Amino acid sequence: MKTNAKNQLLFIIATMLFVFNSANSQSTDTKIKSNTYYITANKVFDGETMQSNWTVIVQGNTITAAGPTEKLAVPPDAIVINYPNATLTPGLIEGHSHILLYPYNITDWDTQVSKESDAYRTVRATVHVKKTLLAGFTTARDLGSEGAGYADVAIKRAIDDGIIPGPRLLVAGRAIVATGSYGPKGYDLDQQIMIGAEEADGNNLIKVVRDQIGKGADLIKVYADYRWGLNDEAAPTFTLDELKLINEVTRSSGRVMVAHAKTNEAMQRAILGGAVTIEHGDLLNAETAALMKQKGVVYFPTLAATESVTQYKGWKKGVEPEPEAVTQKRKAFRIAMDNDVTIGMGGDVGVFAHGENVLEMELMVNYGMKPLRVLQAATSINAKALQLENKIGFIKTGHLADLVIFEGDPSISISALRKPLWVMKNGVVYLP
Ligand SMILES: [Zn+2]
Repeated sequence: MKTNAKNQLLFIIATMLFVFNSANSQSTDTKIKSNTYYITANKVFDGETMQSNWTVIVQGNTITAAGPTEKLAVPPDAIVINYPNATLTPGLIEGHSHILLYPYNITDWDTQVSKESDAYRTVRATVHVKKTLLAGFTTARDLGSEGAGYADVAIKRAIDDGIIPGPRLLVAGRAIVATGSYGPKGYDLDQQIMIGAEEADGNNLIKVVRDQIGKGADLIKVYADYRWGLNDEAAPTFTLDELKLINEVTRSSGRVMVAHAKTNEAMQRAILGGAVTIEHGDLLNAETAALMKQKGVVYFPTLAATESVTQYKGWKKGVEPEPEAVTQKRKAFRIAMDNDVTIGMGGDVGVFAHGENVLEMELMVNYGMKPLRVLQAATSINAKALQLENKIGFIKTGHLADLVIFEGDPSISISALRKPLWVMKNGVVYLP
């Protein structure tokens, strides 16, 4: 009896250990695999340069070697990945997304913001982030939940915990707008309409910035202007002093301020106020571009958003003449290039379909940028713009194992990026 009881106890302990171990390995399984990979492709784009005859070795979630193939032996037990007609790149970085929005030609922005619950929008977003990752975008900077509170913070957590597949996220949370400037608008004033971002002004900005940070914002996004001018034209919102105040509070937490701005006045206030990136910049002139260059501010032109919205309004691209909004954007992009402004890659995806992020890169080429430079924008340049250049955006020893293989050579035809063959994020393979 005594031995029996002892055996039983041992059995129970063994079972508990087994359950504990398998639960433990399951949770780490979804996060970090300690596999070793030996990866070769016809070309390797390292974030800056296109290399030939290169190999990359990954151990766990880290790139442990990258360089000429003849110098790198296959490590024991390595999984060999070889795509002879393809290009290996760092995981692409989406610089301007809205995972909680979906194309306005399916459901307009007002309706998404005011009639769809945060829960419904969050469920949709879980699909959006999966599509983003499988398209080869292993990191995204998400610039505002547009009325869905801090659902972006929750989705980021679910991705990091290995619950759902998605890119590494930097999130803005609610974002900040000046009172009265943002939408939805046009409702009976007796109705309490929820605004698509958080309203704040003057000294209250200090509290709102701190509150957003406390709730999980990785950065602070401000709308330095909006379509609230006379005749609904874009006009500046915050004063220079307000922007400086937002920036001061933001910076003291180790974060940065980024600004939505279309007008030159708003862009200049945002730049002088301390913004690190300017989003949209539709009306960019040479004077503002020079200031951007001088201050090292990165420009995210969001060409795809302008083209998409214009088409939703009825423009038949390729059939009808180009509308003013598109011509203006093309001009802004040219001015930025001529003034040697650092241009990042961010399409404002969500306005158009998640997983179609490459559209922005195709338009950048179409508007006059060389494909190799566009590849740099979506990797090394975006990594710097996100202050993450020591972790992502490059294929080099010590960087995180975010790697994608695309069919063909995107430095020759950027649309090769529409054919991802293999996707790894943080050392875990998600495609095929
Ligand atoms: Zn946006």
